[in-house]
Amino acid sequence: MLEELGLGEIQSEGWETLGWIPSDRQLEIFNILYEQILAGNQRLNLTRITDPVGFWEKHLWDSLRGVVPWLSGDKLPLRVIDIGTGAGFPGVPIAIAIPTAEVTLLDSTGKKIAFLQTLIPRLGLENAIPYLGRVEAIAQQSDHRQSYDLVVLRAVAAATVAAEYSLPLLKIGGVAVLYRGQWTPPEQQELQNAIAPLGGKLDSVESFVTPVTESVRHCVYLRKIKPTPDRFPRPVGIPTQKPLG
Ligand code: SAM
Repeated sequence: MLEELGLGEIQSEGWETLGWIPSDRQLEIFNILYEQILAGNQRLNLTRITDPVGFWEKHLWDSLRGVVPWLSGDKLPLRVIDIGTGAGFPGVPIAIAIPTAEVTLLDSTGKKIAFLQTLIPRLGLENAIPYLGRVEAIAQQSDHRQSYDLVVLRAVAAATVAAEYSLPLLKIGGVAVLYRGQWTPPEQQELQNAIAPLGGKLDSVESFVTPVTESVRHCVYLRKIKPTPDRFPRPVGIPTQKPLG
């Protein structure tokens, strides 16, 4: 549908800014994803971004911008979890773009997970797994704790809370990508304070503008350097009520 609406050119120029070009099959799956999100939006409040250019920029391009280092890297198996995936962002575009990744799509809202359970087979994706739960609970389970190479979070919580959600899930050496809009020095200082007791370090902060509306975005990359103490994440609700940092 994106191409029928004349977006083929925007797509091809836009993808180049990621240093990655989707195959025809991947483009086809992105198009089905767009159709399915529009159809799902009639019943569920999935997203306010429904115009094709906005969808391409804010849901497809933005989702993949955070994982550029993994898009063209070695095609190694990669265990990924998207915490608070909502309608599947950024996790579903990541599963489409990186077929060697196994992507867990975690959300605590039943209707979002029910939507993803019908969406994933329609996209023909075998490497995306919808999962209903609160991250504070699943990060204490042995089949999830310290099990992921890559954790992604977009629009879920403040950065310090996102760090407490993500670092327990990472293997040592694994990376968490926090997708942010604006990013300020005080936020960075709070984050630095929060990640030390969680076993993490700040790897880098990337600032960029989106290719169509030139909106400012940041991606904050955290690396796990030692095990996270068992007391983290704290019980459900505590990380947001009493943020670290
Ligand atoms: N990441 C998506 C995006 O960028 O379009 C959705 C963002 S939506 C604003 C936040 C989502 O996080 C909601 O679907 C909510 O149910 C989920 N969420 C919030 N706290 C959570 C938690 N503690 N565990 C799991 N999911 C959570």
